[in-house]
Amino acid sequence: MRIAVASGKGGTGKTLVSANLAAAAMVDLVDLDVEEPNAYLYFGEGETSTLPVNRPVPSIDEDKCNLCGECARVCAFGALVRLPSRIHVYEELCHGCGACTRLCPQEAIIEVGHEIGELIRTRAGSRQLTYGRLRVGEPIAVPLIQAVKEALPMQRMTIADCPPGTSCLMVEAVRGSDYVIMVTEPTPFGAHDLILAADVLDRLSIPHGVVINKDGPGSGNIEEICADRDIAILSRIPFRRDIAERHARGKLLDRPEDRRRFLVLWDAARREMKI
Ligand code: SF4
Ligand code: SF4
Repeated sequence: MRIAVASGKGGTGKTLVSANLAAAAMVDLVDLDVEEPNAYLYFGEGETSTLPVNRPVPSIDEDKCNLCGECARVCAFGALVRLPSRIHVYEELCHGCGACTRLCPQEAIIEVGHEIGELIRTRAGSRQLTYGRLRVGEPIAVPLIQAVKEALPMQRMTIADCPPGTSCLMVEAVRGSDYVIMVTEPTPFGAHDLILAADVLDRLSIPHGVVINKDGPGSGNIEEICADRDIAILSRIPFRRDIAERHARGKLLDRPEDRRRFLVLWDAARREMKI
């Protein structure tokens, strides 16, 4: 079972919710925000293992290639260019779809690994944190998110911290989740992006509920949106300076009422999931 924690807008408190919820429920955590992973800050030092993650890119055998240009024509991403004397591969543009390899009439293309980042696992007691870290300058993150998801231990409940926004990174991160907790904030931008994220989850047919972070004056619009769309408000995290300070230092919330709040959120999400 996997509960994803997502949002439309960045900076609403996804990692705050993911890390504190996983700690309160004593379950595993996965950080799928591979462009900027930071959940490890909450996890402490533990035994860590790291594995490189590759995606396949074409390599041209120039002895076999007759410069017909078919591969450059078929590539939808402009990753192959026919020059007068050879085919040039822009590895950073390649999406690894494999079309050029399959369609080359001379069988002059093989696929080789292009390292895009690393998969990292660390432990804290009985709990595991898994996350990906994209290499600096690497533009395509989806294969790394897929590799991190594939590496998750089977049969274990996991909370997934997802990338912000509603682009393909967020879609890939939430895909396959049993439930999504959307973290929002009572601002016009938060409300606007909550609607976008809810639309994505409706299209993916993933059940979801909302946590209002920085709750206080002005959250009425979020409540209206949730009421209109029949989305449950699972929890509210108050707009308090000490919460912001602990979060900024990578520390779990320590007040008893805050810990209770995340246990109540855990129960609410499980009730929504009917488990
Ligand atoms: S399709 Fe094959 S033979 Fe044709 S240009 Fe590309 S690599 Fe060369
Ligand atoms: S694998 Fe797909 S994306 Fe990559 S170069 Fe070949 S056709 Fe283009």
